[in-house]
Amino acid sequence: MTKVLHCRDLGFECEAVVRAASEDGILAQAAEHAQSVHNVGEITPDLAEAVREAIREE
Ligand SMILES: [Zn+2]
Repeated sequence: MTKVLHCRDLGFECEAVVRAASEDGILAQAAEHAQSVHNVGEITPDLAEAVREAIREE
């Protein structure tokens, strides 16, 4: 099973989709995406939690 995260589910107007085999992989990619595309300076524990809750299986 692949884990998938839709950036939209985090409240951004964004069609980006991140896929990885593990939750950590999703978090790492999501952090990079959020920082480079959405100017998110720091991945706070709250944001990391929101990412975890938005992860789905595919
Ligand atoms: Zn995005």
